[in-house]
Amino acid sequence: MKYPYGSVYKEQKLFTMAFFINRTSFFIFLCASLLCACKQETQWKGQAPIKKVSTQTVPIQLQFKGTFDLGDGVFMSNDYMGARLNGVARTNDTLISVLITPENLPINPSPWYGFKIWSETEKEIFVKLTYNENAFHRYDPRISRDGQKWEVLDSLKYQVDIKIWEEREVPENLTMKISIGKDTLWISAQELITSSEVDIWMDKLASKSFVSKSKIGESKVGRPINLLTIGTSDDQKMIIAISRQHPPEVTGFLAMKAFVEILCSDAKMAKKFRARYNTYVVPLVNPDGVDNGHWRHNYGGIDLNRDWKDFKQPETSAIRDFMKQKVTQTGGKFYFGVDFHSTWEDIFYTINPELKGNMPGLIPELIASIGNELEDYKPNVKPSLGAGNEITSKAFFFNEFGAESLTYEVGDNTPREFVRQKGEIAAMQLMELMLK
Ligand SMILES: [Zn+2]
Repeated sequence: MKYPYGSVYKEQKLFTMAFFINRTSFFIFLCASLLCACKQETQWKGQAPIKKVSTQTVPIQLQFKGTFDLGDGVFMSNDYMGARLNGVARTNDTLISVLITPENLPINPSPWYGFKIWSETEKEIFVKLTYNENAFHRYDPRISRDGQKWEVLDSLKYQVDIKIWEEREVPENLTMKISIGKDTLWISAQELITSSEVDIWMDKLASKSFVSKSKIGESKVGRPINLLTIGTSDDQKMIIAISRQHPPEVTGFLAMKAFVEILCSDAKMAKKFRARYNTYVVPLVNPDGVDNGHWRHNYGGIDLNRDWKDFKQPETSAIRDFMKQKVTQTGGKFYFGVDFHSTWEDIFYTINPELKGNMPGLIPELIASIGNELEDYKPNVKPSLGAGNEITSKAFFFNEFGAESLTYEVGDNTPREFVRQKGEIAAMQLMELMLK
């Protein structure tokens, strides 16, 4: 693919660049690069069946955090929650090259990035996002002036290089043209929603009489694993919803948020539902990963959605222990479980529909009714073929508790208004079906 910006794009190998960062960060960057270079055999398996893998803790690579003086009055920073910027270099007067690497390898290619940039004088500048060799660009840039309100960067302002990867064309890197000045510009892979934003949202919901917030465990480095309890029932009938096992999957989180807000609403159906069912929600399963700007793993270097059988990580173990304790203490049952994620497109991963849980037929009916409620929308459904893959949350909810379960995947680029609308409809349809 040809760039429109001409001479700026004389290719330069990143390791030949002069780094405007201190020695420690250069060393960290070098280690990260070597780590990446040694693991080129890692291959992404797309949507193929999930294989069992070890979920024993492995080391992760930490970022050097700080403000980088790029000369000529231009600065960048990754010194905030949710940032990711592993190396940066001023290539020439108008081009800054940024390196984004993962927390550890092997890993699925979902390169999260996030940094701030500002300049003492107003100017236009090019910023090139580059990745380690076995990754490729995935998230088109979002920009913000305050870290709160985000918009997609106009597609006329960026270009990608294409490479062939596993016999398909993928974007190798991205170069964007941005205007900078004294006011900080935030650039991020998706909207920045870290544990502090999630806490504010949870606290607001918990001000309702029928909602409470509690801690059910701690992450690898001691962040709370928080739970919302919604409802006034006697716990004989329960449902569970979780989100953000994978840090960059913000659209999945937004769908969960819309879903939960309907369960907490003043709608007649919601009131009736809360009297019959208690809903348990863990909105942020992987707070360490989110706050450290990880691509996918927790602080133990593990994909948490592969740890629902061996339970080697504290985040998954906390949810397992909570659910088991609930059932033991109350004699109640979990009837439904949903885990919200994001991927290339909207899709529902379900348990083999021939297997019967505590409310047979619920999931196919739910998906069909969501489809009926939305104009011009045909749900994309992928059932597991066997008894449910045994290492994901969806399989655990079903196999351990008989909860009818699904993985609710939202596309990275699905319009946010549609994400919200579908999340709300999913909640309404679920309540209606479960109250029948
Ligand atoms: Zn995911």
